[in-house]
Amino acid sequence: MKIVLASNNKNKLREIREILDPLGFEVLSQSEAGADIEADENGKTFAENAYIKAKAAYDMTGLPVIADDSGLEVDALNGAPGIYSARYAPEGQRKARILEELKDVPDEKRGAAFTCCICYIDPEGTAHYFTGQCRGKIGYENRGTNGFGYDPIFMYGEKSFAEISAEEKNSVSHRAKALEQLKKFFKNSN
Ligand code: IMP
Repeated sequence: MKIVLASNNKNKLREIREILDPLGFEVLSQSEAGADIEADENGKTFAENAYIKAKAAYDMTGLPVIADDSGLEVDALNGAPGIYSARYAPEGQRKARILEELKDVPDEKRGAAFTCCICYIDPEGTAHYFTGQCRGKIGYENRGTNGFGYDPIFMYGEKSFAEISAEEKNSVSHRAKALEQLKKFFKNSN
């Protein structure tokens, strides 16, 4: 069975293929499926935005679709940037904005979480959701060069997400946890 991933992100594509190839699925990227559309992500939650992306690709292709939405929620900012993580400030200034906003916040109040919600729309058009979360703390400066996005300011224990290896991050991250649930779902329904 063919499944569309509503993204052209190479890392996401590789991760999903690793899980679904062994189960006999052929995962197509958004462009391979001829569904290169920019869905308007105007939902209020990660789940709503994941559904919006999945539904747009489902309507275009008629194939089952997987889409995800993720972001960083900072306790001291009442959950911001959350669903606005990708547009919290101009490129290159997002981490600095959070560090500045937290400059007077003490260690014990610097909690934060990465959340990832995956939406799978099955061949009948029914949506299924899988959510993963990883808790940590906002650091005091950028640390490390691995990863992407907010990784250099997200402290997971003594190290930031940009200081640990990709393997380590992929075993504890929000995305890994959501993918783990997706994997269970497909294994059980296969
Ligand atoms: P999207 O889910 O691809 O729309 O990404 C949302 C935004 O959340 C990204 O642009 C990043 O800023 C942030 N984000 C999501 N996951 C991670 C992560 O694992 N590390 C760092 N930033 C992330």
